[in-house]
Amino acid sequence: MSEPTRKVVGPVEGTKVPRFAGASTFARLPEIDRVHDYDIAVLGAPFDNGTSYRPGARFGPMAVRQASRHLRPGHHVELDRSPFAEVQVVDAGDVPVTPFSIEDAIRQIHDHAAELLRGGRKVIAIGGDHTIALPMLRSVVREHGPVALVHFDAHLDTWDTYFNAPTTHGTIFRRAFEENLLSEDHSIHVGIRGPLYARADLDDDRRFGFRTIRASDVDELGLPGTIEAITERVDDLPVYLSIDIDVLDPSFAPGTGTPEAGGLTSRELLRVLRGLTSLNLVSADVVEVAPAYDHAEITSLAAATVIYDVVTLLSARK
Ligand code: MN
Ligand code: MN
Repeated sequence: MSEPTRKVVGPVEGTKVPRFAGASTFARLPEIDRVHDYDIAVLGAPFDNGTSYRPGARFGPMAVRQASRHLRPGHHVELDRSPFAEVQVVDAGDVPVTPFSIEDAIRQIHDHAAELLRGGRKVIAIGGDHTIALPMLRSVVREHGPVALVHFDAHLDTWDTYFNAPTTHGTIFRRAFEENLLSEDHSIHVGIRGPLYARADLDDDRRFGFRTIRASDVDELGLPGTIEAITERVDDLPVYLSIDIDVLDPSFAPGTGTPEAGGLTSRELLRVLRGLTSLNLVSADVVEVAPAYDHAEITSLAAATVIYDVVTLLSARK
């Protein structure tokens, strides 16, 4: 993390340049090559060749950056922090990722993230479809060893293969388990819902050491109970946070690849995230924003706000 003496370069000030003008980086933060060093990098991973239903998340980083103009990045009231003044946050641009080979794309995202993570720096990736979480996890584990995964999603993403493809947005967390990227019995899914292809999917998932809080369990536990369950589950291990925007109900996030009715509200998701201040977060992703199905920036604004919250959590010195 930054030395207190180092001068932090913040976002373009909204009181001097109106928010609809100026830089097009996330929250109008400085680009990475404009600063000497950084603590947290926001990285676009515009890849959607791993989607099983609606494509289009390759345009996610662009749409989320555009929606993020609207943020007032000075002070996070609920968390009582000013992340962009306290640590150096930069926009690292997009991984120049191939739109064709999944294997090549994964290697490109891994290598790019690994470079940015060196020396204990943190990355928050904007997807892209959920496939990008696998190379992110691989690069984070290289720095920190196995991590506890906190996974917000309507879907488990622990299928084996889909149309014989081993690496898709629905299979990454089984691959992560097989590669020993996850600390045993410390990972958790939150917001799961919807029907499955087969009941056995649930048994498989349990075998991989996940605890699951379904969307309907959130009703029973309440938001404080959900926060407590997540916090207990991950203990003091390094945590990778992966947020599929389809954890939100389609009324709050219509612009996504595989929407499922009955999801969380954006207020519920933000409240849970804001309760995770004791976690040792090392990096994160927010994925599956597909702007072609969005209206009035509903989904991209939700994602931009979630990213601002996660950056604020990442900015805490541990
Ligand atoms: Mn999903
Ligand atoms: Mn997912």
